[in-house]
Amino acid sequence: MSLIVQKYGGTSVGTIQRIRNVAARAVAAHRAGHRVVVTVSAMAGETNRLVALVEELSGGDYSQREYDVVVATGEQVSIGLLAIAIDSLGVPARSYQGWQVRLVTDSVHAKARILDVEAANILADLDAGRIVVVAGFQGVDEHGAVTTLGRGGSDTSAVAIAAGLKADFCDIYTDVDGVYTTDPRVVPKARKLDRISYDEMLEMASLGAKVLQTRSVELAKKYKVPVRVLSSLEEGTGTLLTEEDDDMEQVVVSAIAFNRDEAKITVLGVPDKPGIAALIFGTLADANINVDMILQNVSVSSGETDLTFTVPKGDFRQAMEVLKGPVASIGARDLVGDPDIAKVSVVGVGMRSHSGVAQRMFKALSAEGINIRMISTSEIKISVVIDEKYMELAVRALHAAFELDKDAGDRVGK
Ligand code: ADP
Ligand code: ASP
Ligand code: MG
Repeated sequence: MSLIVQKYGGTSVGTIQRIRNVAARAVAAHRAGHRVVVTVSAMAGETNRLVALVEELSGGDYSQREYDVVVATGEQVSIGLLAIAIDSLGVPARSYQGWQVRLVTDSVHAKARILDVEAANILADLDAGRIVVVAGFQGVDEHGAVTTLGRGGSDTSAVAIAAGLKADFCDIYTDVDGVYTTDPRVVPKARKLDRISYDEMLEMASLGAKVLQTRSVELAKKYKVPVRVLSSLEEGTGTLLTEEDDDMEQVVVSAIAFNRDEAKITVLGVPDKPGIAALIFGTLADANINVDMILQNVSVSSGETDLTFTVPKGDFRQAMEVLKGPVASIGARDLVGDPDIAKVSVVGVGMRSHSGVAQRMFKALSAEGINIRMISTSEIKISVVIDEKYMELAVRALHAAFELDKDAGDRVGK
């Protein structure tokens, strides 16, 4: 008898029929003798609708605490409906919201981090023979305020619950049948991966492959949770997240990720002296804005530098606002922003031991006439920032250049 945490995303619970389908899957696992905890997202489109209500009311200037109160409601509906559907199949079910479990988080509203999963309620229900349905995406902070975990956060709820309960599997059911070499909606020739290392999946998620929220992969890696990504609509073996092994190192590039959700900001004509970067990035950190890529060009002749960096598109407006003061105080020439960019990345643990990946990547992009605006690298990825309008073209060109539509063993450059 295993303890299984199943997570179903918004599309998988998007209609009453699909909720019945999820209930049937949970009940089948229960009848097969497993202890089953199900985590669900809000019904498809619901969280977007709730976010839009907040935006419409406030014009973007709102309390993050109350934003969480509103957007967390989508999951309350789906857990209640699912528990009713499971009950109707003859298995007792009980639903819990994040604050009822309790799934304790910090107080950074709209992107809270889970600190603790109090498992007692869940375990007592499992012992009583029930299926437990837990709202994804939500938690509660030490003051009792409702928090949410950032968009896509139900994945993280599921993995945290699986880690907390020491589950045998955390099965993430979604609208694709596994993790692919790139988003199959952009490149139809993309191939499903049977396995992927935690590190590669971590890079892919943080570089924009929204199939799993980044934080969920961090937790899975830290607590060694065996996560499987599967389709909620068809049977299959999906993709297993595992520790890295030697076979994986043979493949230079495993996948391509892309992200439209960043914006570029440049501080022009910055005096080249100590303390400036600390001021700029300190200001952004104080506003809880994460900076991703950073590029600084020092001009030898003028003694000035241009400082370019990217921030999440959702934080762009606020970043431009909070930087106005510091930029003026250091005597920089101008502050300019560009939200119409995209980041495209190639990922693979094999890059540690193979060279020439950057050259192959840049060649493929230049063959399509795509200009690279920023570059950043780490041990297992290379990312470029390009104009957003070329993003899909770039992804397809790179997928072909690294022969990702072929079986790994058949690739010329491996
Ligand atoms: P859910 O609502 O189930 O959480 P998401 O929409 O958050 O589902 O994530 C699934 C989507 O992730 C897929 O529909 C697919 O378009 C996208 N995706 C992006 N990159 C990949 C990839 N490499 N492999 C599979 N899916 C991907
Ligand atoms: N419902 C939330 C969202 O749309 C959480 C999730 O889907 O994982 O972001
Ligand atoms: Mg998701």
